[in-house]
Amino acid sequence: MHRLTALQVAQGVTNREFSAEEYIHRILERIEKVEPKVNALITVNKGAIEHARALDKRIRDGEQAGPLAGVAVSIKDNISTKGIRTTCASRMLDSYVPPYDATVVKRLTDAGAIIIGKANLDEFAMGSTTEFSRHGPTRNPWDISRVPGGSSGGTAASVAAMECAISLGSDTGGSVRCPASFCSVVGLKPTYGLVSRCGLVSYANSLEQVGPAARTVSDVALALGAIAGHDDNDHTTAPGRPEFKLEKKKLRIGLVGEFIQGADPEVSKIIYGAYDTLAQEHECAEASMPSVQYALASYYTIAMAEASSNLARYDNVRYGYDMSPEGYEWNSYFAKSRGSFGEEVKRRIITGSYVLSSGYYGKYYLKAQQVRSILRKELKSLFKQFDVLIGPTMPILPFPIGEKIDDPLKMYLVDVDTVVANLTGTPAMSVPSGFAGNLPVGLQLMADEFCEQVMLDAAYSFESAAKVQRSPDL
Ligand code: GLN
Repeated sequence: MHRLTALQVAQGVTNREFSAEEYIHRILERIEKVEPKVNALITVNKGAIEHARALDKRIRDGEQAGPLAGVAVSIKDNISTKGIRTTCASRMLDSYVPPYDATVVKRLTDAGAIIIGKANLDEFAMGSTTEFSRHGPTRNPWDISRVPGGSSGGTAASVAAMECAISLGSDTGGSVRCPASFCSVVGLKPTYGLVSRCGLVSYANSLEQVGPAARTVSDVALALGAIAGHDDNDHTTAPGRPEFKLEKKKLRIGLVGEFIQGADPEVSKIIYGAYDTLAQEHECAEASMPSVQYALASYYTIAMAEASSNLARYDNVRYGYDMSPEGYEWNSYFAKSRGSFGEEVKRRIITGSYVLSSGYYGKYYLKAQQVRSILRKELKSLFKQFDVLIGPTMPILPFPIGEKIDDPLKMYLVDVDTVVANLTGTPAMSVPSGFAGNLPVGLQLMADEFCEQVMLDAAYSFESAAKVQRSPDL
């Protein structure tokens, strides 16, 4: 039962072929079996069975079942869940229990989904491997000695390990797509403003969106349809509540040369293979985006600047962890409470404050914003020529845990292909495109703002033609 897709679960529960309770029971058994190996979840929701039972009763009583009836979902632990602790994998929020649900969580549960747990992440979503978590690293279900990607490593690993059918992550610089690629699942970052950020713990507001991961393109489209659309509590959301329906149609697809350059040869080989597969049904050509080379530096400058400001609220007065106060002398109090951030978070707060400081602002922050406009212009003109752009999601294969943990620059470099979509606000997704041995490679697809439909269509067409999905041996 744990292998069922979200669509199959919702159908089975709605038609009463099996109960939500039976299915969730099986999911909890699966979690018990695989969790010691993958460590994808920080918290398992003890109320899940009860919620499933209540849903079954409502369906028996003739109430309309939602499009996600009974579907097991996990939620990244930086997205607020009422009554279930939300730690951001940080000591700072170890015991924080939100008094409200994030809009995306409310929309999923209103559609009938059952939250089975909170997914592991890098502290405050800062990282690309899920190694920077207070709860220990998540492991890649395909090879547990390797990283699952990050920062939504728990999101992608819980889906790949079949602990749930859908998971929500957040994507500030690639955090849904990177682990989706490393764990061979589908992961999508929506257009900036398509999905509400109300209840998402902010890392870098101008870059991030909540996005779904699942094992099929159809399930990702289903989840996106459930969470997308205007929210009165987030005024950066666009009007309307869009729905997505997958269609097969001929598209113009461009392979971005700059994304392939510098990629591991095993990765490029698979991506060229994906291009050939797509070329059988679509009009494909090579494309170029010369400013991609400045994207990474621009991204890290802006992300750290915004992080330094966002994380100022964790001062152990407004938010923070409980420490027994040793007097209230200003310096020692704040040094101690702010000192409970992990090393990577501290590094970013310090670097972010530096790039914003007077005298350096023009040199770094302003330059980074200029790069952003140039990238936007380049992309706009490419999207006159192409419906969808493709390339590798990650330039490398999933690497051993610990390999890059002591070298921040090496760690940051792995985001080179994903950050462009965040800087430009455009949608992007990763779809499984093959394996090098036992290690997954993801194909990244990008589209113009609010063109998720056409991107999903291309992904669906690729998924149907390439048939790369397998199950990890856990
Ligand atoms: N790896 C990137 C970073 O650390 C992206 C993180 C994210 O998207 N949350 O900033």
